[in-house]
Amino acid sequence: MNKIQTIRGFRDILPEKIALWQRVEKEAASLFTTFGYNEIRIPIVEKTDLFARSIGETTDIVEKEMYSFEDRSGEKLTLRPEATAAICRSYIQHKMYASNPVRKFFLFGPMFRRERPQKGRYRQFYQIDAEVFGIESPYIDSELIFLLNELFKRLGLTGLSAHINSLGCPACRPVFQQTLLDFLGKRKDTLCDNCRVRMKKNPLRILDCKVETCRNALKGAPATINYLCPACEDHFAKVKAALETQGVDFEVDNALVRGLDYYTRTAWEIQTTSLGAQSAVAGGGRYDRLVEELGGPATPAIGFAIGFDRLVEVMEQLNQGSDKNGPDLFIVPLGDAALKKSFHWSCDLNTAGLRTDTDFSGKSMKALMKRANKLKAAHVLIVGSNELEKNKAILRNMDTKAQTDIHLETLVPTLLDLLKK
Ligand code: AMP
Repeated sequence: MNKIQTIRGFRDILPEKIALWQRVEKEAASLFTTFGYNEIRIPIVEKTDLFARSIGETTDIVEKEMYSFEDRSGEKLTLRPEATAAICRSYIQHKMYASNPVRKFFLFGPMFRRERPQKGRYRQFYQIDAEVFGIESPYIDSELIFLLNELFKRLGLTGLSAHINSLGCPACRPVFQQTLLDFLGKRKDTLCDNCRVRMKKNPLRILDCKVETCRNALKGAPATINYLCPACEDHFAKVKAALETQGVDFEVDNALVRGLDYYTRTAWEIQTTSLGAQSAVAGGGRYDRLVEELGGPATPAIGFAIGFDRLVEVMEQLNQGSDKNGPDLFIVPLGDAALKKSFHWSCDLNTAGLRTDTDFSGKSMKALMKRANKLKAAHVLIVGSNELEKNKAILRNMDTKAQTDIHLETLVPTLLDLLKK
């Protein structure tokens, strides 16, 4: 019979790998919470319209990558390809703007995009998101970039660079867009097919096309930052100044436009070269018009998404994949009477917080010691009929090989005393 396997681009994250994921989650939750961000959990499936309207009909995500389907009643649904639009939906649906428009959220969870699978690119991948509503001040842009920087520092990451840009606003972007189109008009023949379509639908996206002929055609292209209106220029200057005084390294990158339609003003990416070609571990930006476009009141908003899978891969490359810690204690019961006692000791010791494992198979001493070694147990407690008769068990330190007798009547408190850190 054919074995059923995961779908292409989907994968299991097995227990051996999970320590790093948990470490990141713990560090991120603690940092974000301190800064006043609250965790939000929202559905994985939303109405297709939500993403089509917000991300932009002509983006790669909406055109080619969404997992969309009709449910049994014919409703058009989509597995979320990103979290921002869905968090906006929640902000509007619960009228959060009415009681307190300023909200800061964070979220961990899976996203789904039907991209071509390759290293660091999956069809179900995980993101860590942070989103802020109701704050127009450039200091919040700097706070979010600082937060990313601080989180990566705490996780021991090196070799990352923050690229920032300003995409302007509806007042200044059309002027820039026209200048870009005029520039590209003369080079149209050298652009890839995609970019020729983008000239009509979404010209800004041409700036980050990776095709070589397009890269060449873009040499000397106008930069958004030279076409900002005074308000956008002032905003961007303040973001940069705050980052500088807070000691966050960054570079202004004119080619950074981000893939989604809803961004305004500040956009950024944290990039790494440690996964082969340069790729982004995190990206973010302002989306001051999205809440209104989705039916809420005009509300400035901004956020970022960290690519969790990529982040873990970078950490693994830096050899931070800590070996899984074994149990503090492995009980080796020899014979039925010892087994019966081991069950209760294991329950009591684990309940008291000492990581204890045992084996109920009734196998030989040799087999059980082999298992203790494999589990990397720090100590082993040996209990056979001889020991039971003498009312004691033998505690063996697997590192030093030193052995001590432990009296059975006081076994649990003695072990807790000796082994619990
Ligand atoms: P985006 O929502 O496209 O701005 O993506 C934010 C981050 O999520 C990126 O910088 C990547 O690190 C990560 N990411 C996006 N798409 C994928 C994918 N298909 N597989 C793994 N990570 C991804």
